[in-house]
Amino acid sequence: MPKAVAGPEIERLIQLLARLPGLGPRSARRAALHLIKKREQLMAPLASAVTTAMEKIEICRVCGNIDTKSPCTVCTDDKRDQSMIVVVADVADLWALERAAALNARYHVLGGTLSPLDGVGPQDLSIDALVARAHDTTVKEIILALNATVDGQTTAHYITDLLRDANVAVTRLAHGVPVGGELDYLDDGTLTAAMRARTPL
Ligand code: ZN
Repeated sequence: MPKAVAGPEIERLIQLLARLPGLGPRSARRAALHLIKKREQLMAPLASAVTTAMEKIEICRVCGNIDTKSPCTVCTDDKRDQSMIVVVADVADLWALERAAALNARYHVLGGTLSPLDGVGPQDLSIDALVARAHDTTVKEIILALNATVDGQTTAHYITDLLRDANVAVTRLAHGVPVGGELDYLDDGTLTAAMRARTPL
């Protein structure tokens, strides 16, 4: 345990910051010092933003997204294509797809992927709710935007089986060469997947 260099209030701030993803103890100290130096411009607005967000956060009862209202902003946006639902493991994936403006559709957040080794089964994920949504007659396509990992693909197969009775097309993201990627640097699995998923020009 390093020796405390400041009073318990500041040490506590550093400890909490160090728990944020991407921040170790060193960067947490740097961040704390930055906040303290910018008390008026940054620390006070941040403290108030954290408190307000705390009070207002809601999990969307339709899709599982995080927002300050339920149904969320995405679900209530009537300019979105109602016929497609993009299935993601986590809210971070939803935000990433929205950032890329990849598709103007709605989402369904599973809350993770099936992982027998970690004891995550179907009952731990929002799968029943997805199946129910897929039976809505306005829904025509379920797009599985899951990680290209063993757990992600196991989950994709499991969901595909469950959706056989629903009148929807089930698709998944393509696997292959990343945009700007050079073939020589790709691993064998990616190259094989890209070759299998080749498309006509
Ligand atoms: Zn929603």
